[in-house]
Amino acid sequence: MLIVMNRDATKEQLDAVIRTVELQGYTAHPIPGGDRTSIGVLYNQGAVDDALFRTLPGVKETIAVTKPYKLVSREFHPSDTVIHVGEVVIGGEQLVIIGGPCAVESEEQVMTIAKHVKIAGGDILRGGAFKPRTSPYAFHGLGEEGLKILAKAKAAFGLPIVTEVMDLDCFDMVEDYADIIQIGTRNMQNFSLLRRAGHAGKPILLKRGMSATVDEWLMAAEYIMTEGNPDVILCERGVRTFVKHSRNTLDLSAVPVVRRESHLPIIVDPSHAAGYRDQVMPLARAAAAVSAHGLMIEVHHAPESARCDGGQSLLPDQFEILCRQMRAIFDVSTSTKS
Ligand code: PEP
Ligand code: MN
Repeated sequence: MLIVMNRDATKEQLDAVIRTVELQGYTAHPIPGGDRTSIGVLYNQGAVDDALFRTLPGVKETIAVTKPYKLVSREFHPSDTVIHVGEVVIGGEQLVIIGGPCAVESEEQVMTIAKHVKIAGGDILRGGAFKPRTSPYAFHGLGEEGLKILAKAKAAFGLPIVTEVMDLDCFDMVEDYADIIQIGTRNMQNFSLLRRAGHAGKPILLKRGMSATVDEWLMAAEYIMTEGNPDVILCERGVRTFVKHSRNTLDLSAVPVVRRESHLPIIVDPSHAAGYRDQVMPLARAAAAVSAHGLMIEVHHAPESARCDGGQSLLPDQFEILCRQMRAIFDVSTSTKS
């Protein structure tokens, strides 16, 4: 439930409502708004009896929250969450473009690709130093050496970096280097990792689990937020279906649904959805057209020798064309937002 205070409610009245919530054994979560404060009621097992709160001094109204998620919901937080990463603004009016290789392979590789990403107008550099791979025999990333390479690219080109954290063991290390910490599809319901992410001082990019419903995905974000980290970026990366013509099926309908249900920014990764280079550009254009807040695109200058996901990586020239196209489409789609 959400308890909405009057505009002129006093601090004493607010404290009295919080005390009453806590006396019931619930947790009160004050949400300061532009002109009034609301108090979210958390950790109730069943329905909350609103009669207890409706008549307290300073209370305007109570609103039943019907969804299982609360902190991530629009009901709790009507305005969009806007996340600042250096000079990049995620969740605002601009389409944010993240580009880079699947995996950090060498300093030369990352520097080459980062330069292309920068010149093309990309905003953020991606690259995995810890790679979750289906096969134990595959390349699993360079670990801390890879993070150091990303740090060099960041210093050289002024691009913030997003990189994946795979487990609790490497969390502190990844947090030291990353500007945005990625939790991958395979870890979307790794609840201890989500709770740790809730204590991170950096934004979290939370990919959708490959078979997760939107509700399950939003509940995963709720884990991060309940631990105190409000900066969660959702990333749609395709879900597992029966088709064979693509690696996954990009669920673009999730974008308007998430934008309706949640205030958190949502970006789209067409590379892991497609699995094939020729599908990435059309899917990226479609993602911009449905008003995703950003895109994450794999780019490689020598995809034939990439150690991971070369077949779905765009060539630098394609990435440059795509950056131009996407910004134009996003401008149209946000000016006709309904
Ligand atoms: C990635 O972005 O490098 C990645 C492994 O993606 P996903 O978790 O979506 O498979
Ligand atoms: Mn990849």
